[in-house]
Amino acid sequence: MPRVAFIGLGAIGSPMARHLAIPAHDLVIWNRTRARADDFVGTTPARIADSPAAAAIDRDIVITCLPVSRDVESLLDGPEGLLATMPRGAVLVDCTSGDAATSRRIAARLAEHGIGFLDAPVSGGVVGAEQGALTVMIGGDAAVLERVRPVLECFGKRIVHCGDVGTGDSLKAVNNALLAMHIWGTAEGLVALEKAGVRAEVALDVINASSGRSNSSMNLFPERVVTRAFPRTFRLALLDKDVGIAADLAREQRVPSPLLQLTAELFRIAHDELGELADHVEAVRVVERLGGAIIGGPREDASRDGGHE
Ligand code: NDP
Repeated sequence: MPRVAFIGLGAIGSPMARHLAIPAHDLVIWNRTRARADDFVGTTPARIADSPAAAAIDRDIVITCLPVSRDVESLLDGPEGLLATMPRGAVLVDCTSGDAATSRRIAARLAEHGIGFLDAPVSGGVVGAEQGALTVMIGGDAAVLERVRPVLECFGKRIVHCGDVGTGDSLKAVNNALLAMHIWGTAEGLVALEKAGVRAEVALDVINASSGRSNSSMNLFPERVVTRAFPRTFRLALLDKDVGIAADLAREQRVPSPLLQLTAELFRIAHDELGELADHVEAVRVVERLGGAIIGGPREDASRDGGHE
């Protein structure tokens, strides 16, 4: 069995790494903020390394899950960096929702050292990670994927080879841009309906039995918006980043993409307004403030909505 290191114990990284903590993997972890690593080993058998370099010693597979590809790139160099110790023949599997250009640059750097690279962003959210039921989108060499597949299957139910390095990143970004469009569009429609006298519960009941439904209307709005729960599972800052990657992709490919560009702009505005800690679904609060009505739940005054950071 391959020996594994995991780097980046954030909201989704932690539950992913938990599935890897079997004796055969001899799991080693590193997290920039040590307290998160300490919390992790309080409940899960793993060894804490003092640096990325220390984590990568003797590892067959190093998995990273950080906010952006540049964060992963910044861990490669220097005496504490991954390249200082990662053995030839090892594979870096980057589960960051990254960007293709940076992933290609990382892959080229690693190849100079005889190390393989796969971009491997995931979908399914924190709940999917906890259940070990993520979808993993792979860009890179299919033979390298087959070598690491049993490890990815610890947290992934669907492992999909998308194409060359960077294709997993691109597919993930487009998926999340669609998520963003559904959230914003559903919010606009429901705010307008509230003002026209149709309660959100009634509107969602009909939409979810009709052709306008989506994961947002079926799950996110009933569970998180109408209830005003807005749990923090996936930061709005990260969705803003994803939509930006998708908008850049369309421009690079010379695809006219007014909807993608507009969505990127709207989520940049929402991110600026709501701050770094807001959840992605809280973008709805911006639509509510602009529209002057609250979707479902107890009536609140939208102009003094307390959700802003
Ligand atoms: P979080 O913000 O919860 O965690 C980010 C992690 O990265 C933390 O461990 C943080 O360390 C670490 N980190 C941040 N910057 C650096 C850096 N420069 N160098 C080293 N470590 C760094 O993010 P998530 O776990 O939610 O997301 C991680 C990735 O997974 C993102 O690309 C996101 O888009 C993607 N994703 C997230 C999903 C979700 O539901 N949350 C779903 C699908 C994909 P520290 O503890 O020090 O802050």
